[in-house]
Amino acid sequence: MTDFTEKNVLVMGGSRGIGAAVVRRFASDGATVAFTYSSSDEIAEALAAETGSAALKADSAERAEVVEVVAQQGQLDVIIVNAGVLVMGDPLETDADAIDHMINVNVRAPYHALVETARRMNDNGRMIVIGSVNADSIPFPGGAAYGMTKSALQGMVKGFARDFGDRGITVNVIQPGPVDTDMNPADGPMKDMMHSFMAIKRHARADEIAGMAAYLASEEAAVVTGAFHTIDGGFGA
Ligand code: NDP
Repeated sequence: MTDFTEKNVLVMGGSRGIGAAVVRRFASDGATVAFTYSSSDEIAEALAAETGSAALKADSAERAEVVEVVAQQGQLDVIIVNAGVLVMGDPLETDADAIDHMINVNVRAPYHALVETARRMNDNGRMIVIGSVNADSIPFPGGAAYGMTKSALQGMVKGFARDFGDRGITVNVIQPGPVDTDMNPADGPMKDMMHSFMAIKRHARADEIAGMAAYLASEEAAVVTGAFHTIDGGFGA
């Protein structure tokens, strides 16, 4: 297990799904945890009460809100940027504003959050972003824009690993395959198609993704940086 006693942790997008599992994992391992969310007030307050964490309303689609909420946290030891949205469908029919919103949340927010974090992060800090196996593999139509947003994170973590490595800060992306959340329910209509691509034919649990985040944030992972960590049941194999 991991011990994050006396570590300050911020989870961007922590109210539900993978982010909530990350909040639970770091809080149970002793960290002081704050998390952001955009709309789920009641769910966020309940999670904060359950875990002793702080729920902060901040829209990742708004750069000013991202920068402000990160700056308010002071010296962080760990940031996990998880907030993301999924827009899939025929690119000729999909609303262009929805695509631009996804780019704001999935790409611009992680970039600006990590830059602001780096201004005052403690040495040996940990930056983790939640990407997707769809950065590497999209074995069906309709995923070009989503895949683009997750591929962008690969270039970002490689670059930031170089920018911040002299301070011992590591920067990594976790790339899940199907995970049972509101975004992608294990009993949803796409499940059989998704499982057909997998070696382990089931959705992951959110806590399995949180376990990888805990490893990457641990002291043991001090030289793991600028890398992509796929956890996908063999979806992209
Ligand atoms: P969910 O939709 O279940 O949860 C998304 C979380 O992000 C919620 O806490 C939500 O807050 C928050 N969020 C969304 N938009 C914003 C915003 N504009 N500002 C602040 N917070 C926001 O998603 P998942 O847990 O499934 O996904 C989490 C991450 O994992 C995403 O980046 C996703 O792309 C990635 N991923 C998911 C996979 C899956 O199969 N589930 C597979 C691969 C990657 P609120 O409750 O307020 O809406």
